[in-house]
Amino acid sequence: MIKIKMMLIVLLSISITACFPSNNSAKKEILLQGHTMGTTYNVKVVATPEHVESLKLHDKIDAVLKQVNQEMSTYIPDSEISIFNQSNSGDVFEISNGFARVLKESIRLGELSNGKLDITVGPLVNLWGFGPEQRPEQVPSDSILANTLARIGLKNLHLVGNKLSKDIPNLYIDLSTTAKGYGVDMVAELIEANGIVNYLVEIGGEMRLKGFKHTGELWAIAIEKPILDPSGEQRAVHQVIIPKDNAVATSGDYRNYFEANGQRFSHIIDPATGKPIHHNLVSVTVIHPSSMTADGLSTTLMVMGTEQGMAFAVENNLAALFISKTEHGFSEQFTVKFKEYLK
Ligand code: ADP
Ligand code: MG
Repeated sequence: MIKIKMMLIVLLSISITACFPSNNSAKKEILLQGHTMGTTYNVKVVATPEHVESLKLHDKIDAVLKQVNQEMSTYIPDSEISIFNQSNSGDVFEISNGFARVLKESIRLGELSNGKLDITVGPLVNLWGFGPEQRPEQVPSDSILANTLARIGLKNLHLVGNKLSKDIPNLYIDLSTTAKGYGVDMVAELIEANGIVNYLVEIGGEMRLKGFKHTGELWAIAIEKPILDPSGEQRAVHQVIIPKDNAVATSGDYRNYFEANGQRFSHIIDPATGKPIHHNLVSVTVIHPSSMTADGLSTTLMVMGTEQGMAFAVENNLAALFISKTEHGFSEQFTVKFKEYLK
């Protein structure tokens, strides 16, 4: 059994033809980078280096992300989420606004998708060896699977304002699908609160952008072709999109999976079966004003598969791109709303 982590689709910021005149040549694209949520972040702001320095923007970004982690990281033993998960009581917890905001949106998406997105799925994620418990990767027995399935379900979780409680003591919340996007939103809001109007924020592949590059060009994003090349040497642009003032999120099972007896097991779980998804959908990209929502929706559509996901995306007027693996390579499908953003 091998665990392979690959990033086959990389979102790159690239230049496109100028469509807005640059009016301040002293402004540059300042790149601020760091580590968070077990991955990296890249922030580009259009400003002068002196201005960014005087705002202490890099320190502020780190502080905001630290707070998000302290609220919602299951990898931090004394984070808010970990304390709630470890609690064996049905007591009501008064939680932070940030944690409540992410929970509220995650629960909304869970209900909208009829349970395909389920933030209580954590025990199953751990059971299949993808969570913080990092258990050895193996196929669980049917009885362990049934016992674990009995521990999940949004119906067991109650959020009223900032008050959170659970019906079963070992309910476990995992916000992997929305917290990263929320981190992007928090950084974007911070940048705007500091008076910067042109920026691109990226955390582990989730992005949100606004305005223009320092050259006056619109930000454009290249979605890379899903070529099976772990070395990353072969790269080709699959699609260029111009998301305007929106967030872009991609969910895919090519990044994180394990193989046993020649079968591939994804880190995305179908809560209906308790098992990793098993279909030919390679990735889903969603464009939406909120990075948190785009992040959650991309996973939701990934769980659904192309057919059900397309129907759901059309019904809910979503901008979504589905890339599937076929006998003859890759095929793509997108909604009418996504088409608006194609270059
Ligand atoms: P990435 O972490 O690469 O951005 P996703 O945003 O698609 O990928 O999130 C996948 C993670 O979400 C999994 O690693 C797991 O922790 C969690 N997860 C898996 N299946 C579900 C599900 N059905 N509902 C909610 N969360 C899930
Ligand atoms: Mg994601």
